Amino acid sequence: MALSDNIKSRKRLAASDVVLAFVLVSVSVLMTALQFKNTGNTALKAVVKKNGVTVQSVVLQDREPYEMCIDEEYNIILYIEKNGVTIARSDCADKICVNTGKITKPGQTIVCLPARVSVELQGVTAVNELDGVTR
Ligand SMILES: [Zn+2]
Repeated sequence: MALSDNIKSRKRLAASDVVLAFVLVSVSVLMTALQFKNTGNTALKAVVKKNGVTVQSVVLQDREPYEMCIDEEYNIILYIEKNGVTIARSDCADKICVNTGKITKPGQTIVCLPARVSVELQGVTAVNELDGVTR
């Protein structure tokens, strides 16, 4: 009797150890996943639209910041850094787009109403997607 009770309780202990280990592993996997998200291991892509139509799409890369003209009518210059984009110059009257400053997170948008131009940041997982829409 005493012996079998002992075995039973040992078995129970083992089972709860397995559960505990499973929980710990799940938590650490989850934390790693969250960390990946937070440190921005997914690349950012700036999607430029004119009149709601995508005209350019630029994947932000780990390189020196550079400028790119995204609208010749209003001479809008997009300043592209690895962690975000800014509209550096625009010939529009209100300058709201310039005053918006830098956007750094997926879902953020800079809009220039007079030029009907918008720049939206999107998250991308594969950097190879580069050059997709541009041509
Ligand atoms: Zn503007």
